[in-house]
Amino acid sequence: MKQFSSDVLVIGSGPGGAMTACTAAEAGRDVLLVEEGSHHAVDSAPSFSLAEMDQKYRNGGLNVTFGGTSITYLEGRCVGGGSEINAALYHRPLEKTLREWQAQTQIRGFEPEALWPHFEAVEADCNVNLVRGGNGPASALLRRGAGSMGWSTREIARFWNYDGDAPIAGLSRGRQSMTVTLVPRAVRAGARLLPDTRVLRLLRDGKRVTGAVGERTVNGEREKVEFRAKDVFVCAGAVQTPRLLRRSGFTHNVGDTLQLHPMIRITARFREPINDLGYGVPTEQVDQFKPELTLGCSYSSIPHLALWMGASLGNKQARLRDWRRTGIFYVAAVGTGVGRIRDLPLVGEPLIRLPLTTADLARLGEGLLRLGQLLFAAGAEELSSPVDGAPPIRDVAALEGVARVLPQGRMPVSTIHIFSSVPMGEDDARTGTDSFGLVWGCDNLRINDASLFPASPAVNPQGTVLAVARRNVMHFLHG
Ligand SMILES: Cc1cc2nc3c(=O)[nH]c(=O)nc-3n(C[C@H](O)[C@H](O)[C@H](O)COP(=O)(O)OP(=O)(O)OC[C@H]3O[C@@H](n4cnc5c(N)ncnc54)[C@H](O)[C@@H]3O)c2cc1C
Repeated sequence: MKQFSSDVLVIGSGPGGAMTACTAAEAGRDVLLVEEGSHHAVDSAPSFSLAEMDQKYRNGGLNVTFGGTSITYLEGRCVGGGSEINAALYHRPLEKTLREWQAQTQIRGFEPEALWPHFEAVEADCNVNLVRGGNGPASALLRRGAGSMGWSTREIARFWNYDGDAPIAGLSRGRQSMTVTLVPRAVRAGARLLPDTRVLRLLRDGKRVTGAVGERTVNGEREKVEFRAKDVFVCAGAVQTPRLLRRSGFTHNVGDTLQLHPMIRITARFREPINDLGYGVPTEQVDQFKPELTLGCSYSSIPHLALWMGASLGNKQARLRDWRRTGIFYVAAVGTGVGRIRDLPLVGEPLIRLPLTTADLARLGEGLLRLGQLLFAAGAEELSSPVDGAPPIRDVAALEGVARVLPQGRMPVSTIHIFSSVPMGEDDARTGTDSFGLVWGCDNLRINDASLFPASPAVNPQGTVLAVARRNVMHFLHG
């Protein structure tokens, strides 16, 4: 069996793991960063393509939760994790959210004033920028529609370097994911990166973790590997982190409180062209109903349009010929359901039970109504219905009928934002770790990823994952 030893073992190289490895390596620690997925260049496949899903997504993107309505969720599985495949939209959370988190689970040293410097560092380290020279026709349409309804919108900054790309955003060239920013920095500071290596179980001796065992794929062959480390950080994401902990015998408040942002998507066709793929992801969002509801526009390539037209629109081929006049629009809600993650050992997959609650359905329905009103105000001719088999929606009256009673189990609901599966804080009746990610009952095992959020960040989460991870690893290094 191949053996590796290090001072600090970091498991998972998404935003949480990359920040942990980079900060510890730059402080002079001997770091080993282990990642289940492969190491691909940021532009190894076109963004939002099937090739990208093959290379960089877990199970090609096909993961579902169980409940009255199944929710499809996406996870990255590659060096850089979710940052390699996501829309790269960046937010700071509201101050109110941070204070609510602090009160909810009694997190020490979590005052917004203490956190903002970490956000500032993330914004500089990961090149958070606004689009130069305008953010494209779909964003303009959202602004126009919201303007006629009297609602506010805002351009959301991205982890993106627009140099050389202005005014067109380009697709993957400017992405400032972990493989472009923190992972190479970690390696330059001496960290060793081990891709294609899955950690299967942590090794425990009383109140300490001594390392881990896993398997590595080299030239298509699997080999067993063993890790020895003084300190271990698990940063495998909100689903895989609790799975690994539970498999290793750590179960106190682990995997019992998963939360997410449920989303519904519809397509809308306009009289004039509104879809210019050269601008990448449309960056405008409707601010008016935040934090509970976010309305926006997705990247609308032909395969994605076909997917989100769903079963509701007939004659799809003809409709897809109109792709330049058609876009995908979304409603994202702060979910109220709380889910449980358990490992299915024989299948090798997680079982996640999470209800889409009546409150979620009402919130998504309200969001759909607002979104449809905006789109009609901006000149939409026809919307697809999010309800399986329902006819297209051609006016506000029909929209009201659909939005009022969204049915359980008959809509494709998805999510790309998952968190809160091992919350942090001093209230050990509700948390799996202390205020800085140290797992209860263990002296040297820490979590540092989206699992730690006590509740929804109410905005796109990657910025908060990075800032909280930076705070926690600096506490580990410097007290
Ligand atoms: C399609 C999509 C779009 C998104 N858009 C946005 C957006 O625009 N803005 C935003 O803020 N957020 C967005 N997100 C969410 C954001 O990407 C996540 O919040 C963020 O990546 C979470 O970081 P993490 O470190 O917690 O976990 P992850 O990014 O999930 O990283 C975990 C890593 O650990 C690895 N791993 C798992 N298990 C093991 C194991 N046993 N051994 C070794 N390695 C393991 C995984 O392969 C993965 O690379 C999006 C997500 C998706 C999927």
